[in-house]
Amino acid sequence: MSPSEDTSTDTQSLTDGFHLVIDALKTNGIDTIYGVPGIPITDLGRFAQGAGMRVLSFRHEQHAGYAASIAGYLTKKPGVCLTVSAPGFLNGLTALANATTNCFPMILISGSSEREIVDLQQGDYEEMDQLAIAKPLCKAAYRILHAQDIGIGVARAIRAAVSGRPGGVYLDLPASLLGQVMDEMEGQKSIVKVIDPAPRMIPAPDAVDRAIDVLKNAERPLIILGKGAAYAQEDETVKAFVEKSGVPYLPMSMAKGLLPDTHPQSAGAARSLVLKEADVVMMVGARLNWLLSHGKGKAWGAPHSKKFIQVDIEAMEMDSNVEIAAPLVGDIGSCLSAMLDRMGDDWAKPPQAWTDAIDEKKNTNLEKMAGRLKSNANPMDYHGALGALREVIKDNQDVILVNEGANTLDFARSIIDIYKPRHRIDVGTWGIMGIGQGASVAAAVETGQQVLAIEGDSAFGFSGMEIETICRYNLPVCIVVFNNNGIYRGTDQNPSGGDDVATTVFVKNSRYDLMMQAFGGEGVTATNPDELSQMVRDAIASGKPTLVNAVIDEAAGTESGRIGNLNPQSVVSKNKASQ
Ligand code: ADP
Ligand code: MG
Repeated sequence: MSPSEDTSTDTQSLTDGFHLVIDALKTNGIDTIYGVPGIPITDLGRFAQGAGMRVLSFRHEQHAGYAASIAGYLTKKPGVCLTVSAPGFLNGLTALANATTNCFPMILISGSSEREIVDLQQGDYEEMDQLAIAKPLCKAAYRILHAQDIGIGVARAIRAAVSGRPGGVYLDLPASLLGQVMDEMEGQKSIVKVIDPAPRMIPAPDAVDRAIDVLKNAERPLIILGKGAAYAQEDETVKAFVEKSGVPYLPMSMAKGLLPDTHPQSAGAARSLVLKEADVVMMVGARLNWLLSHGKGKAWGAPHSKKFIQVDIEAMEMDSNVEIAAPLVGDIGSCLSAMLDRMGDDWAKPPQAWTDAIDEKKNTNLEKMAGRLKSNANPMDYHGALGALREVIKDNQDVILVNEGANTLDFARSIIDIYKPRHRIDVGTWGIMGIGQGASVAAAVETGQQVLAIEGDSAFGFSGMEIETICRYNLPVCIVVFNNNGIYRGTDQNPSGGDDVATTVFVKNSRYDLMMQAFGGEGVTATNPDELSQMVRDAIASGKPTLVNAVIDEAAGTESGRIGNLNPQSVVSKNKASQ
């Protein structure tokens, strides 16, 4: 109910906290909220929907939070997640921390209990000092206590989320704030429109010269594109730069499609070779974290010395792991445009010996792979199943791929080519499980495109209940569950010989497709690549919520996929096993 509809008192010229929050968001172009209703924010969601915002209710806050963060990634506007106090807030916090880690702009708005009671620890309903708890897990955290500060508080949250390196912001709204009343005119005046929320950051000319110098003198240069480059939405500039430079590039997983994976300069299929052999590596919106072995060691051909150029909006990222010979601090569009300007007409492409060596390696690897992708093994192995899905995406390049799991993630990342920017969403910097359904909802809602989510059965389980959300909003999402009866594989045995199954094993031959049917969606089981391909093509053609239960050989996976080396080894259990 808006104040103007209230006839019980003379409220014609009054507004309140609820409506000011909505006005502040709408004024700044935020038109979608992902959340879970409850005390004290149920009416906030209702009023927002009444005011024309899209308000999508989830079954658990974590998934609403993942959706909000992916909305932020796809739109460059902060995605908003709305939760209740203490437990709902905590459920949303994983997604907020994940957004910050991944540099996705997001605002977690949580209702909170009475400040006076919380601070004296007198035992309020859902009592918790949420602001203090959120602070170390996000980029910025604010609490608004007075209705007249809502405008400025929301503005601060928006700017913090999207300016510089994007990240997660927490906004604490005590229950009493939402009901606070103020004069409507005064209220409108207090709303702040954020002008230029993410200002361009122009790199210093001498830093541009330095970067050009290092790149020009390279014999075996390599560009690594990260999801920061995809986020920046400077697709044409990135393409122009890569093509003008002639330098081979590697896309990080969510940067796949920034240029099509089939681009002649893609070195994706020669990854090990280029990381080892390159003498100059230019990072563009990618970090030298664990996903790139911290820029050192065997994977990088140590002890050979390499020179790094790094383009990033965050100055502190420079030298985080290794020396950066040419730091270029600024936004990706401005940095790459400045470099393009300096390259001139006589820019020499990299030596042919280098690009030939890469092409040769690529061809050998792709040929090796091609045979395996045709595998018709029954039950399906990863290559057979993903080989079929690779063709589906090739024929439907607008489809947005969501991908999580262990083996399901690792194999899909290298097998499935992506053709368009921001068309692959996955487990990101942390390698978390559970983003599947949240990311799928956000991708469908924000882009209107068909989504194909390829998820391991374990990964699917973290957010499986959200298929009801997908059905409720009738979203064009097709989920393929790679069902191998367990985590990593379904063949483990209980080492004690006891009755419980092994810790990594699920109910055998589960019918995830029946879950989807329970909510009115399409649910089908695929036992071979041809069936799988046809079922997914049908789902794309119909746009209906669909779940394909893809039966995968339970012995096909490996422990932790390709990162099994990160598991600590026990000396004791090895000794015991050999006794
Ligand atoms: P990946 O996992 O794909 O390697 P990361 O998340 O590690 O990508 O790195 C993304 C980087 O991009 C971060 O260091 C972030 O500061 C940077 N970044 C994000 N947006 C921009 C932008 N608009 N311009 C420049 N750098 C950006
Ligand atoms: Mg599994």
